[in-house]
Amino acid sequence: MIVIGGGLAGLAAGVALADSGWRVRLFEQRPFLGGRATSYVLPDGEHVDNCQHVTLGCCTNLEDFYRRVGAADKIKFFDRLLFLDSQGRRGEMRAGYLPAPFHLTGSFAAFAPLSLQDKLSIARAMLDILQTQGKPAELQEKGGISMLEWLRRRGQTRRAIERFWRVVLVSALDEELDRTDARFGIDVFWKAFLSNSTGYRMGVPVVPLANLYDGCKLEIERRGGEVVLRAPVRGLKIENGEFAGIRFDESREETADAYVFAVPHTALAELLPQSMKQSDPALANLDKIKVAPITGVHFWFDRPVMDEPFVTLLDATTQWIFNKTALFANSHGKEKIAPAGQYLQLVISASYHLLQKPRQEIIDLCLGELRGALPAARDAELVKATVIKEAAATFSPEPGVDRWRPKQQTAVPRLFLAGDWTDTGWPATMEGAVRSGYLVAEALLRSAGAPRRFLQPDLEPDGFIAMWLGRLNTATAS
Ligand SMILES: Cc1cc2nc3c(=O)[nH]c(=O)nc-3n(C[C@H](O)[C@H](O)[C@H](O)COP(=O)(O)OP(=O)(O)OC[C@H]3O[C@@H](n4cnc5c(N)ncnc54)[C@H](O)[C@@H]3O)c2cc1C
Repeated sequence: MIVIGGGLAGLAAGVALADSGWRVRLFEQRPFLGGRATSYVLPDGEHVDNCQHVTLGCCTNLEDFYRRVGAADKIKFFDRLLFLDSQGRRGEMRAGYLPAPFHLTGSFAAFAPLSLQDKLSIARAMLDILQTQGKPAELQEKGGISMLEWLRRRGQTRRAIERFWRVVLVSALDEELDRTDARFGIDVFWKAFLSNSTGYRMGVPVVPLANLYDGCKLEIERRGGEVVLRAPVRGLKIENGEFAGIRFDESREETADAYVFAVPHTALAELLPQSMKQSDPALANLDKIKVAPITGVHFWFDRPVMDEPFVTLLDATTQWIFNKTALFANSHGKEKIAPAGQYLQLVISASYHLLQKPRQEIIDLCLGELRGALPAARDAELVKATVIKEAAATFSPEPGVDRWRPKQQTAVPRLFLAGDWTDTGWPATMEGAVRSGYLVAEALLRSAGAPRRFLQPDLEPDGFIAMWLGRLNTATAS
């Protein structure tokens, strides 16, 4: 079988199918694996991530995938999230001794950037998420409702929206609250912050992203398959009106028993012939799925300016600052970091307003904010800087978007789909991509008459939530 695309979706599908005895041939257009979640080497030899990527404790399929390919020890989990506002006030989120859903209550109560009134309004909304187990009735409204609308109906204060909901959700979902389906936003809080005491823990790679995928190639090759880089698929071969293979440059063609297209939806829309889009309505609507941008800003200073591994800025364009020097410090990668200096990576999600700005303007803006937040940076010399704008970083989780996301099995014989944008129930994340890869492997094996399960369950609810749900289930059963 053939997989087209060596991002997380294609890799997860390829590894799962190879493990099921299929000979997998994976074709990736670029010279490296990882798709959007990758890294490369700058002309001066510096290893940079396309953008900082993080995972959460509730991303059970991504964790399973890293384990399968021997990359689990390259992810370091942190249980303390630090926030800094423009007045230099700090707030943190860290699990205390109380069981879920109260594990973050202590740090939330002490969270200085929010007032008591803000906290009470947030607590009321959280209670609603809890009581409905993450499925408030309005989520069923036709076409979905936006997260902002849901928060307004819950009477959230302006500061609670700006300094809490927006901060968490714009980073997690790469979209502004008024353009985010409330279903995704509420799911983040239910799965990551409420139902389980470890779901919020943040996992950060301690090596450049491309180093996470070495094991994928080995897994596929070990079972007789191959991973071919610099191999862009240019089109589909149609014979007698039927899908019969894929075309490469120089009239080269390849055929297989089944094909998994694990490319972005925008790329798939260009590859698919019109006749095929007409034969499956799910393929006709790919252009209805919109995209959202993320901007990464990389700074190299002549000296250390930050002690924390990462920090979230409130009231600023810059959303996250990652201390790459500290994060990479214990890795055995080959990354080149000036020993005396410090390499920081800043992330701005849903960065629509930066797309048209010149790079120097973005550098000046972020440097100003960083020097405001980190006093040690004020005297430090910025040795070099780079800006990476990803205009189509993720699909936009806008209200109702799920109706345009196709299932992994299509109505076209032998044509299967994977990608964070397919119907996974998850937003555009590494977890969503791996889920799609596992789901497509399951669909393909089912259609071949040899069903097997790869999809991992969500984290089990724990603490009081587990007791409460247990009691609810007993009451329903009796
Ligand atoms: C800047 C940025 C920051 C992000 N931050 C996070 C984060 O912190 N946490 C998180 O969970 N997610 C994050 N994401 C989202 C995450 O990267 C994606 O959801 C995930 O990597 C998507 O994987 P995929 O396999 O579905 O698609 P892709 O990674 O896009 O993979 C598709 C692959 O197909 C290849 N391809 C395309 N066309 C062809 C062709 N014709 N022939 C052969 N190959 C082809 C591409 O080169 C690519 O390798 C971020 C994304 C970006 C861009």
